[in-house]
Amino acid sequence: MKRLRKVKILATLGPSSSDEETIEKLHEAGADLFRINMSHSDHATLRNLVDRIRAVEKRCGRPIGILADLQGPKLRVGRFADSAVELEPGQTFTLDDKDTPGDVSRVFLPHPEIFAAVKPGHRLLIDDGRLQLKADACDGKSITCTVVSGTKISDRKGVSLPDSTLPVGALTEKDHKDLEAVLATRNVDWVALSFIQRPDDLAAVRKIARGKVGLMAKIEKPQALEQIDEIIELSDALMVARGDLGVELPIEAVPGIQKQLIRACRRAGKPVVVATQMLESMISAPVPTRAEVSDVATAVFEGADAVMLSAESAAGDYPVEAVSMMGAIARQVEKDPNFPGIIYAQRSEPQATGADAISLAGRQIAETLNLAVMVCYTSSGTTGLRASRERPQVPIIALSPVIETARRLSVVWGLHCVVTEDATDLDDMVDRACRIAFNEGFGNPGDRVIISAGVPLGTPGATNMLRIAYIGSDGMSGI
Ligand code: PGA
Ligand code: MN
Repeated sequence: MKRLRKVKILATLGPSSSDEETIEKLHEAGADLFRINMSHSDHATLRNLVDRIRAVEKRCGRPIGILADLQGPKLRVGRFADSAVELEPGQTFTLDDKDTPGDVSRVFLPHPEIFAAVKPGHRLLIDDGRLQLKADACDGKSITCTVVSGTKISDRKGVSLPDSTLPVGALTEKDHKDLEAVLATRNVDWVALSFIQRPDDLAAVRKIARGKVGLMAKIEKPQALEQIDEIIELSDALMVARGDLGVELPIEAVPGIQKQLIRACRRAGKPVVVATQMLESMISAPVPTRAEVSDVATAVFEGADAVMLSAESAAGDYPVEAVSMMGAIARQVEKDPNFPGIIYAQRSEPQATGADAISLAGRQIAETLNLAVMVCYTSSGTTGLRASRERPQVPIIALSPVIETARRLSVVWGLHCVVTEDATDLDDMVDRACRIAFNEGFGNPGDRVIISAGVPLGTPGATNMLRIAYIGSDGMSGI
C-alpha cells in the first residue's frame, strides 16, 4: 500500500478502535502507526492491542509502528466525600497528605514528594486549568492556597504545577511496571515519555530500554524547553504535546513553540510529532472545523514528520473518518504549489558526514533528473533519517533487512519502508532496489531511480555510494 503523502499519521487506539477490524480500517484509511496510551490501558490490553496490530500488519504486508505512551508524573488529587465540591474565588483551599475524602476546605494530594517543590506564589492548575489556585504557604505536608479562578473540583482531577520543578524523574512506579510490560512484548517500537523536565530523565530511561525501543520525549513542561537542545540530542524523537503544554504555559504560546520544536527537530534530523486536538470536533461530528483543517495543514507545511489523533480515533464516533480527513488534508497541502518553497525555507545544511553528503547529492540528482524515487539501504535507520531530513520532492523508499528498523521508521516523513534481505553484491543491490520500486508502485519500466547504499554491503553506518539505475523492461531488473 503506497501512501500519496509524505507526512505520517499516528492514531491513538482506545474504546472506539480496539478491535482488529477497526484497527485494519484505520490502517487502510491512512494510519501509519498506532499509539497505545498507558494512562488508560492495563497490561492485558497492551498485549491484545499489540497482537491485533501485528495481525493487521501481517495481512497488509506493510511495517506498522507501535508507540506505547507512558503516563509519567501526571499529578492528581484524591477523592471527595461527595465526589465534587464548589469553591469560591478568594477562599482558602488546602492540598495535604491525609488520605481521607476531601471537602470544601481540603483534598488529599497523593504525591508527598512534591510538597517541598511548591513555593509561595506558585500556581496550581487543576483540571486543565479550569480551577486555578495560588500557593500561599507550604510546610512539607500541605500546600495552603487561595482560589484565583474557577469554582469546581472533583475526584481525581489532574494538577499542573507550571512554576515548580518537580523532584521526580521521568518514570513513576507505574511507568516502570508499564515499561517492563512494553519491553516484554518485544513488539513495541517507540516509547513516549510524558512530562519530562530535564535531559537526565531520558538518560535514565535509555538505560532501562537498552535500545529495544526508540524514545520519544513529550514536550509538555516549560522546564523541558529550557534545555531543549540537550533533550533533543538524547531523544530519538519528539512530541509537541500541545494538550498539557497549553495548560502549563499560556495557550497562546503553543503555536510558536510548535514551530520552534519542529525546526529544531528537523535541524537535528529527529522525527517530530504534532499532537492533540488536531481534529477535536470530529470526536462527535463527521466533519472538522475550518480552524482544525488549518491546524493540520500548518503542521504539514512546517514539515512535521507526523500528525497525531488522540480522542478522535481512540474514543470518538468517527475514528476512521478522522484518519481519512487527516490524510486528505495532508495530500492537498503537499500538492499545493507553495508547499516546496515553504518547507524548503527551513532546510538545514548537511553535517560533515558521508550519510549527509550522499543524502544531499541524492536529492539534488533526483530532483535535477526528475527521477521516480530515491531508494536508500538502511540497516540501523540512520541513513533513512538523514535522507528524510533533506525533505526531497521525490518519494523515498527505505530498504532494511531489519523489521524493527522498518517499523520504527514508520513515523518518519516521506519514508516508505520495505523489509528486504541485504543485497549480496552490487548487481543484486541495483536489481533489488528497482524491483521493489516497481512492485511497490513507485516506478515503471524505463523510469530511473537513485540508490544510496554502503559498500561493503550490510555494514551499518557506512553509506558511501550513489547509483542511478533504470527499472528494466520487465520491471524486475535494474540496468
Ligand atoms: P496526553 O499527551 O494525550 O498523553 O496528555 C499529549 C498532550 O499532552 O498533548
Ligand atoms: Mn500530556
